[in-house]
Amino acid sequence: MMIVYYSICFFILGSILGSFYNVVGYRLPKGESLLFPSSHCTNCNHKLMPWELVPIFSFIFLGGKCSKCKQKISLFYPLFETVSGLLFMISFLIFGFSYELIICLTFISLILIITISDYNYMIICDEVLIFFSILLCIEIFFIYGYKVLLYRLLSALIAGVVMFLIKKLGDFLFKKESMGGGDIKLLAILGLTLGWPLALISIFFASVIGLPLALIICLRNKEHILPFGPFLGASAILILLSKIDINQVLDFFTIIK
Ligand SMILES: [Zn+2]
Repeated sequence: MMIVYYSICFFILGSILGSFYNVVGYRLPKGESLLFPSSHCTNCNHKLMPWELVPIFSFIFLGGKCSKCKQKISLFYPLFETVSGLLFMISFLIFGFSYELIICLTFISLILIITISDYNYMIICDEVLIFFSILLCIEIFFIYGYKVLLYRLLSALIAGVVMFLIKKLGDFLFKKESMGGGDIKLLAILGLTLGWPLALISIFFASVIGLPLALIICLRNKEHILPFGPFLGASAILILLSKIDINQVLDFFTIIK
């Protein structure tokens, strides 16, 4: 029974943090303060009361409308909070109370913030990337020791360089900016978190997930550029949660041979 209780706790924690990450992802690229002004209706500036700030539930109680001006609140907020809660809960169910869980939740937090800013502004903030890289380095050092940290730092370099080369190739093929510099830095963090082989595999996964969506969006709107960051993040989270061990993958290929 305790596992149900803890799962619910992690879901609540994830949805509260998700609601905060949404604010971070919206405000940081615009250079706004994260704490002031406090959360308000984007239409009438009505300052939200504590009971209007409960993730998911407030949206349901308010019937999806601002309590003052009755302007509709975007369904995106409760959906994002639900996804954040679910990701935290699933991470707990997979990793339990372990050191891996700390790294996994740190990484998921980074991806959630990046998804908001990349989707809304096509920007991946350096402040966010730097903050989380340092945090991940500290965690890896204390959990796995300096040798693993060195290997992961080298992985970050390899993954970043590979992504840089892919971007150069893309720029050449499409005769325009194929992806932002943020994606290169993001891949370096994927290398740091997953090690370089899995980081490179996540580029492949991201392309597989992203391509159908890219085609749909491009057919509808020729000007629209698809942000690649959220797809990279989603595929990296899938790899992280599936606990794929790169050695097993390599073993598998040697068996085929
Ligand atoms: Zn309002």
